[in-house]
Amino acid sequence: MPAIKAAVCHAFGDQLTVETVDLRAAQTGEIEVTLKAVAICHSDISFADGAWGGSLPAVYGHEAAGLITGVGDNVSGLNVGDAVVVTLIRACGTCPSCSSGKPTICGTPYDGDHGPLKTADGGKLHQAMASGAFAEKVVVDQSQVVKIPADMPMDAASLLACGVITGVGAVVNAANFKAGQDAVVIGAGGVGLNAIQGAWIAGARRIVAVDMSEEKLAIAKEFGATHGVLASQDKPWKAAKQALGRGADAVFVTVGAAPVYDTAPRYLAYGGKVIMVGMPATGAVSQYEPANFAAVGQSLIGSKMGDVVIKRDIPWMADLYDQGRLKLDELISGRWSLDQINEAIADTKTGSAKRNVIIFD
Ligand SMILES: [Zn+2]
Ligand SMILES: [Zn+2]
Repeated sequence: MPAIKAAVCHAFGDQLTVETVDLRAAQTGEIEVTLKAVAICHSDISFADGAWGGSLPAVYGHEAAGLITGVGDNVSGLNVGDAVVVTLIRACGTCPSCSSGKPTICGTPYDGDHGPLKTADGGKLHQAMASGAFAEKVVVDQSQVVKIPADMPMDAASLLACGVITGVGAVVNAANFKAGQDAVVIGAGGVGLNAIQGAWIAGARRIVAVDMSEEKLAIAKEFGATHGVLASQDKPWKAAKQALGRGADAVFVTVGAAPVYDTAPRYLAYGGKVIMVGMPATGAVSQYEPANFAAVGQSLIGSKMGDVVIKRDIPWMADLYDQGRLKLDELISGRWSLDQINEAIADTKTGSAKRNVIIFD
């Protein structure tokens, strides 16, 4: 099997080791992509720290872009040389979720222990999130790949694989947000900034960002927030409602904290929706008074990966980037080599809202 360089996690909490591993060729329905860029997402860090368990040794990384260098049998519409975004959204196409147009919640499990990766001595190597993109190359299912314009910068393109589609998709898909509506976005981090620019693109009347950090509220305004509310104040929903003159049509919770979910409905207008994006720790519980929702037609809606259909949604987002209407370059805080991945992860952990991107020559 061909040898490639990858960053491998051997023990949760340890540094990743950049080493030679084996990646088999693309088989039926699969694509080999030689990566040009992979962004570091907080999900990668949660996995590497052991927060969500999983198989080891493993290769993380799931926000990637590159060029197709291999195509298996029974692949249509993708060819060697195409520029593509590689996502973790592996969809079987035939389960009830896929059949109803919801590939982000595909019900067919994937066994990353028996994927295309092996250690250099032929041992098990887990392909995390069906991607394993902290590596020079990946072999993934064709459902995970979407073509982008050949001249699109690869670092910007890699962001379309996860954080951007999760935030923008929560607005345009999960909330079905309409021009003229009011939005509250709780958390102005990587996903929150994209929910904010999604609401801006969708024609929001007003966008209130809520965050613990003044600095992040200032960045939120660069992405389209019309108002900022400090979450550390007493009953921050009162300040948000004052800014709106009423409650919000949609409240996007982009942080993974159960206490935030407890209070998110307080920001709502009659008929409004809480869109649940952030994922609290396993076992965390929130409490609501159901009668309040029934009485005024409010709802709670979970949204996975922005409910995107990648071949429908990523091309229009790439066009909006090209036209200067979707900010991607502004989301990048640093560019690193694969050998510097532990430094890049440490920098991400300092709490920046923006993305560090690994660039391959
Ligand atoms: Zn991600
Ligand atoms: Zn499926």
